[in-house]
Amino acid sequence: MAIETPEGYEAFTVETIKNYIASDALLAARVGGAPDQLKTVEVGDGNLNLVFIVEGPAGSLIIKQALPYVRLIGESWPLPLKRSYFEYHTLTRQAAASSDGARVPEIYAYDEANALIAMEYLSDHIILRKGFIQGIAYPRLANDLGLFLAETLFRTSDLHMDTARKKADVALYSDNVALCDITESLVFTEPYQEAELNQWTSPQLDRLVQTLRQDRDVKVAVQVMKERFTTCTQSLLHADFHSGSVMVNQADTRVIDPEFSFYGPMGFDTGALFANYFLAYFSQAGHAQQAGDRDAYQKWLLQTAIDTWATFEARFRELWHSERTGILFPRSLFEDQDDAMGSEQALTRTLRSLFVDTVGFAGTKMIRRLVGLAHVEDMESIEDPDQRARCEANALAMGRELLVSRHQFSSIGQLCDLARSIKNRGVTL
Ligand code: ADP
Ligand code: MG
Repeated sequence: MAIETPEGYEAFTVETIKNYIASDALLAARVGGAPDQLKTVEVGDGNLNLVFIVEGPAGSLIIKQALPYVRLIGESWPLPLKRSYFEYHTLTRQAAASSDGARVPEIYAYDEANALIAMEYLSDHIILRKGFIQGIAYPRLANDLGLFLAETLFRTSDLHMDTARKKADVALYSDNVALCDITESLVFTEPYQEAELNQWTSPQLDRLVQTLRQDRDVKVAVQVMKERFTTCTQSLLHADFHSGSVMVNQADTRVIDPEFSFYGPMGFDTGALFANYFLAYFSQAGHAQQAGDRDAYQKWLLQTAIDTWATFEARFRELWHSERTGILFPRSLFEDQDDAMGSEQALTRTLRSLFVDTVGFAGTKMIRRLVGLAHVEDMESIEDPDQRARCEANALAMGRELLVSRHQFSSIGQLCDLARSIKNRGVTL
């Protein structure tokens, strides 16, 4: 059954996109030249959308266009074009909310009818996940992402944002139902039951998958995290903050692809990032040419996790003191009454709650990448299935522990200790 496409929408090809660019004065000026002078290639390696690189005599750009269905699955799984609208609005909000507005690609144009965003082509960057697989260290990563997360999450929360604007925004983003539904099913539910789309390295992990699905503590914990996800409109989230949504080089860090964005718990974004650091960590054994030659890189990954949180927390603390202009924990109750201690106590509580969410969501995100529908290239690219299964089993053990025992941890350093001890011990298959 063919999908009905809305009036005015056309899914472009590498050929038709050239005329589209030529017909838009602003975009045409950016790349220069006539349609036949443009070089176009489609590079969407993601699961959902078309991504065109357009290069002309004067410059280049990216066109990202939503399709009315899930690309990975096909027309049998329709998906609203409106996700492009949320992606565009979140990119502009994140650019405004982060002090260094250049943490997201520059946006050149948005065409709502065609569900299309024209943006800066990051030609010198690679996807962070690919860097992790190659074992490349990025000296700016922890600082850039720690700041980005602290600023975008704090400044879109009730700690800072004008309440009328925030409520209007919560209403706006509540319409991103289809993308939230994907997360609600594929992250929080299906990995824990029999579901058609689940996959895992079989037969090596069969027993662990069965054990997971019968693990009552896990099932309760993941539903508690899901309840946080569906009920807590804390901040405007990116909501897909994995290492495939970050593009990097030695001098720069950019965050792309916030089409899942909505108002949810801050820890969902921070947790996703830590999940991806730890997935990368456990995958390294599968990428080593010789035993031990990824040890230094594993150390760097753990240190990066620690540094990311340190930067995040320090910036969050600063913003608490300097930009707490929203309706929550007002200064009138604390600083204005000479109660600096009260403010500190409230800050400590807020960070604690955010940390527990971070750990719980990190565990949830790890598990779903190992036994659910969408896996990560860090693991998938390990060719030997026995080796891959060993890496995945270790990551699964970590994910479970983070999810179930999230209240027991008090620092990212402790999570790193856990990762090291699971790696050294090795889960028995
Ligand atoms: P999807 O939402 O379909 O997953 P992404 O936004 O993740 O699409 O983009 C898919 C791929 O296209 C990315 O992995 C990256 O390789 C490339 N890409 C996307 N945006 C840019 C950009 N601004 N500059 C360079 N490459 C990009
Ligand atoms: Mg995407």
